[in-house]
Amino acid sequence: MSIDHRLSGEHEELRATVAEFARDVVAPKIGQFYEQEEFPYEIVREMGRMGLFGLPFPEEYGGMGGDYLALGLALEELARVDSSVAITLEAGVSLGAMPVFRFGTEEQKRTWLPKLCSGEMLGAFGLTEPDCGSDAGGTRTTARRDEATGEWVINGTKCFITNSGTDITGLVTVTAVTGRSPEGRPRISSIIVPSGTPGFTVSKKYSKVGWNASDTRELSFIDCRVPAENLLGEEGRGYAQFLRILDEGRIAISALATGLAQGCVDESLRYAKEREAFGRSIGANQAIQFKIADMEMRAHTARLAWRDAASRLVHGEPFKKEAALAKLYSSEIAVTNAREATQIHGGYGFMNEYPVARMWRDSKILEIGEGTSEVQRMLIARELGMEA
Ligand SMILES: Cc1cc2nc3c(=O)[nH]c(=O)nc-3n(C[C@H](O)[C@H](O)[C@H](O)COP(=O)(O)OP(=O)(O)OC[C@H]3O[C@@H](n4cnc5c(N)ncnc54)[C@H](O)[C@@H]3O)c2cc1C
Repeated sequence: MSIDHRLSGEHEELRATVAEFARDVVAPKIGQFYEQEEFPYEIVREMGRMGLFGLPFPEEYGGMGGDYLALGLALEELARVDSSVAITLEAGVSLGAMPVFRFGTEEQKRTWLPKLCSGEMLGAFGLTEPDCGSDAGGTRTTARRDEATGEWVINGTKCFITNSGTDITGLVTVTAVTGRSPEGRPRISSIIVPSGTPGFTVSKKYSKVGWNASDTRELSFIDCRVPAENLLGEEGRGYAQFLRILDEGRIAISALATGLAQGCVDESLRYAKEREAFGRSIGANQAIQFKIADMEMRAHTARLAWRDAASRLVHGEPFKKEAALAKLYSSEIAVTNAREATQIHGGYGFMNEYPVARMWRDSKILEIGEGTSEVQRMLIARELGMEA
């Protein structure tokens, strides 16, 4: 038995490369995209060229042959500077490409993965609907088989779907009810819908509190027909599939939340040294030092939590509880760190031109997306053997 907190040489190199990219390329430009609520195509293209969208996928499908730890490291370093680009990567990999990789046929993988891995194309995952989010088993979207043509005919609405309406979005995997079990329970399946399919409409962007340089849309499907072979995995396995996808995705969101929490430390340290009040830097006050020490403690602990869950996933061990713990803890401390960092910045912290204002706005969604904090607590309690 051995224990080692250090990253491998390759992982450390990746982490350092992404940190440099975030500092030199993302940081100088992202504020403007955020303010104008524009999708940062040029930054995303560059992330594609670096191979970030292919990080955890095998080279035979155009990936980098890395693992989930590598993805987490990249997400943490990006989110340390900006969460919009980080969530674009997270959703592109965990929600867009991963379902195709995990559950797709060889042909589906060869059709979609090379473009998704290169970042030329973004994929999305449409689970949430206007009337059901946490209770995603309550999906109302339907897909019926046209007996004459074999096609799936999809009807329904999905909401809050990340990466679903950019100029480079190529597919959305949607969950839909494809039948009923003998006891009357809905059979949910996942189906790939290519962008531009007739009957599939993408509405205009939402006006959001945060993640303003990322793409989030409502989608509607009216008699939208896709070929029989667009079914992803077995019919009726959609519920199990998205549970697996969300378990993994929670590790990624946790890494992203850790990055935001650490970014709050970076910005607060810088500001506490610069800003003077009562004739000395505000950082000379123990009250400020203690705030920053606590912020660092929380970011460090969150990092240990997501890396532990990622390590279990990479080694093929059970990771459901650890992923939920990591997601719950890191998202809640990201909100706390963002609040404290804003406080340290005083009135300037309320001004959008300061990165901490963006971090404050971007932090709240972390307690909601890919399973709310309440849902994480339900999962943890269930894993502890408590009655559902
Ligand atoms: C910016 C953004 C991007 C998103 N991207 C995607 C995406 O790409 N794909 C996708 O499918 N979805 C996406 N979502 C949707 C997101 O995953 C859902 O919003 C989230 O799962 C919560 O669902 P809901 O909004 O329907 O809230 P609800 O499920 O209606 O929950 C409302 C509140 O009730 C609480 N609650 C519900 N049930 C219980 C219970 N049993 N016990 C205690 N409390 C409970 C919840 O925790 C929450 O606080 C995104 C959302 C946002 C805002």
